[in-house]
Amino acid sequence: MDDCLFCKIIRREIPSAKVYEDDDVYAFRDIHPMAPVHVLVVPKTHVSGMSAVDALSDAALAACLRACRTIAEQEGIAQSGYRVVSNCGSDACQSVPHLHFHVLGGKHMTESMA
Ligand code: AMP
Repeated sequence: MDDCLFCKIIRREIPSAKVYEDDDVYAFRDIHPMAPVHVLVVPKTHVSGMSAVDALSDAALAACLRACRTIAEQEGIAQSGYRVVSNCGSDACQSVPHLHFHVLGGKHMTESMA
C-alpha cells in the first residue's frame, strides 16, 4: 500500500534497524522499545491486521511465526523466554494498520497481559 508506514519500511523508503528478512517477512527494531529486545515482525504482503489475516497466504503467516522464533534465538532470548503479541483494533491500541507481531524479551515480564 502506497501510504502504509510498514510498507514504506519494507520498500526502504523509511529507514529501519533490520533484524531479519526472508521472502515473506521483514523484521526490524521497534522505534519505541518496551523491553530490551523489541522487534516487529511484518509480512511483506499488506494486510491490515489479525482481523484481515485470511487475506494472507498460509505460507506467509507461518513464515511470520517462524521468524519470531528465529529472531528470539538470534537475540539470545529463546532460553529465558519471550512474548509474541499482535495488537488488533482500537481496544488493543493497534496504531499501525499493517499486520505485525511484537517480539518482546530480555527482561522478566509481569503476568499481566492487559
Ligand atoms: P501497534 O501499536 O501494535 O500497532 O505497534 C506499532 C509499533 O510500531 C509501535 O510499537 C511503534 O513504536 C512502532 N513504530 C512506529 N513507527 C516506527 C518506525 N518508523 N520504526 C520502527 N517502529 C515503529
